[in-house]
Amino acid sequence: MLRRSFAVLSALSLLLCLTTAVFWVGSYRHPDFIRLDRGNTNVRILGSEDGAVFVRRVTIDMANRQMHVLSIFPEYICPYFVPFAMTLVLPIGYLARRILVRRTRVRLGHCIRCGYDLTGNISGVCPECGTPVRQASEAGA
Ligand SMILES: [Zn+2]
Repeated sequence: MLRRSFAVLSALSLLLCLTTAVFWVGSYRHPDFIRLDRGNTNVRILGSEDGAVFVRRVTIDMANRQMHVLSIFPEYICPYFVPFAMTLVLPIGYLARRILVRRTRVRLGHCIRCGYDLTGNISGVCPECGTPVRQASEAGA
């Protein structure tokens, strides 16, 4: 159950990571923003530009449908590589664990799929799950 939860969380984290990468690349091509306040002239915006997410206070001139920046520096800024790296940790951990478990099972002569001890097995298939038995020399270990 715990292993399955780890797999599901890793997959979701990888999806978030890829989504972040798409927004990261997109922030260089077309800057974008949304309004956070409902004010008429003085509002905060959440934007994405040049590889970062920012929150900035701006003044909107509704008469000319133009936006004038009130504060030059963003109030908060977060480069896209921060959420990208954070969401990449879980999938890398999952992959590293799988590789480690597989290598350990091959080295100990266990089934690579279910971990069943195949010592003395002559049938060539795992009696527990039916997976063909791989020799240690085949696995490159
Ligand atoms: Zn097996």
